[in-house]
Amino acid sequence: MLIRKHFRFEAAHVLPHHPGKCSRLHGHSYRLEVAVSGPLQPSGPAQGMVVDFDDISALVRPLVVERLDHASLNDVMPNPTAEHIALWIWHVLAVELPQLAEIVVWETPTACAVVRAEDARTR
Ligand SMILES: [Zn+2]
Repeated sequence: MLIRKHFRFEAAHVLPHHPGKCSRLHGHSYRLEVAVSGPLQPSGPAQGMVVDFDDISALVRPLVVERLDHASLNDVMPNPTAEHIALWIWHVLAVELPQLAEIVVWETPTACAVVRAEDARTR
């Protein structure tokens, strides 16, 4: 089974290689989806769950949201496209969350980048 948890962060970026308006400093209200997959746990405090949603939040908030929220993303990674942000988040979280299945970064209400486990392995 696959579960998802949503997060938000506000951040600024510049896309230095972009020929249009994205080469100027601007910000987005990013939405992040973290998906985790695996079997339901048969016993213990997370019985009947893949992973406790609270445990996902306990990792994602300090490792990702608190580092990117109200930050200049160019200080964190070069050329912070939605694709690069999604890959950065994948690599930060995959170490701590082995059941990580998908990272989705929504840059606008209609545009997102998706990294899945099979994409991350080929990077
Ligand atoms: Zn932008």
